[in-house]
Amino acid sequence: MNNCGGDEFSDNEDEILTTAIENFEASLKPNSSVAKDEELRTPLERFRPGYLWVSDLTRQNWCEQQVYYSFTVPAIVEENPVMTEGSSLHLARELAVHDVVQVKVTSNEDIWAIKVLNLLSSLISLLNGQTVAREIPIFGAPFDEDVFIVGLIDELRFDPTSFQLDLWEFKTRKYKNMPSKAQQAQNRLQVMLYKKLFDDLVKGKLTKEVIAKHLKLDMNRTFGSDIQATIDDKCLTGTTLNQLLDILFIRIQCITCIKEIGIEYEHQGSKESLGMNSVDYDDEELEKLFKNYLEFWRGRREVKGVEIEEAWKCQSCDFADVCDWRKRKAEQYSQHGKKKI
Ligand code: SF4
Repeated sequence: MNNCGGDEFSDNEDEILTTAIENFEASLKPNSSVAKDEELRTPLERFRPGYLWVSDLTRQNWCEQQVYYSFTVPAIVEENPVMTEGSSLHLARELAVHDVVQVKVTSNEDIWAIKVLNLLSSLISLLNGQTVAREIPIFGAPFDEDVFIVGLIDELRFDPTSFQLDLWEFKTRKYKNMPSKAQQAQNRLQVMLYKKLFDDLVKGKLTKEVIAKHLKLDMNRTFGSDIQATIDDKCLTGTTLNQLLDILFIRIQCITCIKEIGIEYEHQGSKESLGMNSVDYDDEELEKLFKNYLEFWRGRREVKGVEIEEAWKCQSCDFADVCDWRKRKAEQYSQHGKKKI
């Protein structure tokens, strides 16, 4: 399936794993739980487990209609994501700074404990003098919109002398050129969202109540034995999310908000750097965009496809043959052309 945004590869094995677990859990639910009229449910309720991934929003930035079809046109939906060259490069970079450990999970609380532990480990390593941390889970409910967002930051770079923390997203490209403006806009949105989520945590804006409510977690459920052993190995204390999150909130406030954000592009074949785009963070712009995107997820407006100036995106879209938006736009355009003549 065409990954909206061209030939860059998603870094989100984490997302794939979680989605697989959620799909499996959904398949175990009795029919009565899906009896609610589909039409009455919002896209957030129908397609997502109560929260969104940062990649849902960046894909929406490319084409919202395409996101909608990716959930509703099953014949084209990718069923077996494979590890690509891009994702294996991400893994190699991750392994360069820390080991990947297999852990057995026994509950949703265990899954979220892994995310919290990975974030905590990165923070602790930076506070202990390491200058780079990779593949850092991040989450929050930005702009008081009551929608929970989850992501995975590629890289944090910390300068212990100036106490400056920067965030970089690593993108690999099949072709030896910089991405289009539209792809760069997607990547810009991605790093701005990561910064927003991270800074909100540093500023103490996220509470345990909000996390528990959106993720439907039991904050006092005791972790499984593998998670507990991992916590002990890291010389941390805590047997529940309630306790682990307290540690996270304290530790993250010992670090600073993110200063610089940017995207680094690398050619897959030659591993040559294609360039580094520094991004100017704009809180107002992000809030406006975010609120607009949420209107779709809350079912408050019709789904939108690309505007005529971006119709070139349709040429490489898997849904071009079935896309109503594209047909409607083509008709409008030809009517408009006739009137002019
Ligand atoms: Fe979006 Fe064009 Fe694909 Fe339709 S054909 S889903 S408008 S990119």
